[in-house]
Amino acid sequence: MKVLLLVDLQNDFLPGGSFPVKVGNEIFPAINRLLDYPFDIIIATKDWHPADHGSFAANHHKAVGEKIMLNGLEQILWPDHCIQDTHGSEFSQKWDSEIVDKIIYKGTEKSIDSYSAFFDNAMKKATGLDEFLKEIHAKELYIAGLTTDYCVKYSVLDALNLGYTVYVVTDASRAINLSPNDGDEALTEMQQEGAHLITSQDL
Ligand SMILES: [Zn+2]
Repeated sequence: MKVLLLVDLQNDFLPGGSFPVKVGNEIFPAINRLLDYPFDIIIATKDWHPADHGSFAANHHKAVGEKIMLNGLEQILWPDHCIQDTHGSEFSQKWDSEIVDKIIYKGTEKSIDSYSAFFDNAMKKATGLDEFLKEIHAKELYIAGLTTDYCVKYSVLDALNLGYTVYVVTDASRAINLSPNDGDEALTEMQQEGAHLITSQDL
């Protein structure tokens, strides 16, 4: 059972959105190659925030990139993004989201952020993804999307901890790179923790 997990392929994370990965559109040839591959199940996450979400700098009258304590956890502040039921939180039309079998919503509670597709950042609340994957007896996950250094990375690390075999599809992922090496360091960390780094052409 091969499962594709596409992370946050939403308008706000792409050029023209409120929190764009500048080179985000570079992933789509590889994403579309993945969508042509016969995966058994395709799952996609949506970052899905209420407008008063605690990760938004504007809600604290602070600058993007500043850090605060949010509910006892360090939180980097981001631009407003992926607000529920807005254009920014919709899947980009650069890929065919009709093909998705299941959508996982994350970051839905204002008091805590959720980078991982599996748990919130305090590991207190699960999204239901692990339960779903266990129900379908999935063991192998192919993970790609935005961003390599946050939501892809934390999803991969949680998946490894939960015992899945994980392939990170590097050409179908890009980093936000608050610091220029964040993406490369994230890939190294994922590999050191046991993830396999592949490209969409290796499939
Ligand atoms: Zn978010």
